[in-house]
Amino acid sequence: MISAYDLHCHSTASDGSLPPAEVVRRAAAVGVRHLALTDHDTLAGIVEASACARKVGIELIPAVEISVTWEDKCFHVLGLNVDLKCEPLRAGLARLQQVRLERAEGIAVQLEKHGIRDTLAKVQAMAGEGMITRTHFARLLVARRYAASVPEVFEHFLVRGKPGYVATRWAELDAALTWILAAGGVAVLAHPLRYQLTASWLRRFLTAFQSLGGMGIEVVCGNSTPAQIETLADYARRYRLLGSVGSDFHDPNFAWTDLGRLAPLPAGIAPVWEAFSRTPLRQTVEGNHGPGNRAD
Ligand code: AMP
Ligand code: MN
Ligand code: MN
Ligand code: MN
Repeated sequence: MISAYDLHCHSTASDGSLPPAEVVRRAAAVGVRHLALTDHDTLAGIVEASACARKVGIELIPAVEISVTWEDKCFHVLGLNVDLKCEPLRAGLARLQQVRLERAEGIAVQLEKHGIRDTLAKVQAMAGEGMITRTHFARLLVARRYAASVPEVFEHFLVRGKPGYVATRWAELDAALTWILAAGGVAVLAHPLRYQLTASWLRRFLTAFQSLGGMGIEVVCGNSTPAQIETLADYARRYRLLGSVGSDFHDPNFAWTDLGRLAPLPAGIAPVWEAFSRTPLRQTVEGNHGPGNRAD
């Protein structure tokens, strides 16, 4: 089952393993027609991805996954269909990029205390010009045989109470939403069931999110079960949020979250992409002709 829309994926601009153009080519090859590249706290991959999308004839939706701290908890908010030139968005992301660098230095210091040396230069080399994320540290720890896989690293390292953990203050929720709205984008809560929140905390978050201008919720994620999709559809209905679908693709070796491998939105959930056409940024799929496309 391949979805024409995949509105959440990563490239080497953050912690994906493929360069932006390769992500786009892979998406097009499996049958995705509308792809949002959502790297962590950066728009750096969008220009390359857009150029490739034009070549292979699919739509590239400029987007970003913003790290947010709300009530001392970390949330990921997607800004979909954002204007790359929006200055408040660019300035906000620049600050988060600095936070990422300082956190990477802190993680390296914490790992060093546990005898795991010389990680900072290594992850910097792995990330290249892209964002340094915990995924880079996790890949390095796998390479050095501290764990068998990236998910296993996250059981023993880099999380609260374990070696290599650094508490981080990301963007404020109201700031992140302000940047996305200033950029003409649609704010979507990413993977709502991955924060290990109780239902009452998730409801509190959604109340705040919606009141600050959040418009969407990821109802179908890579690897979602039918029961999870139904739960998230209920939240979408209750909070009058648009439904998004996104694989959170990072790496072709993780077959369970490959591009486009997504169930359809449940009946009655308004798709988030219907909101894109109300903003002026929509790029066309096959040139400037065909229904639903606009040249402005
Ligand atoms: P960061 O934003 O630098 O804290 O890194 C978060 C990234 O780590 C997420 O976007 C995932 O790609 C990855 N990650 C977090 N937890 C896990 C996990 N349990 N298994 C695999 N990857 C994870
Ligand atoms: Mn990631
Ligand atoms: Mn995320
Ligand atoms: Mn993601």
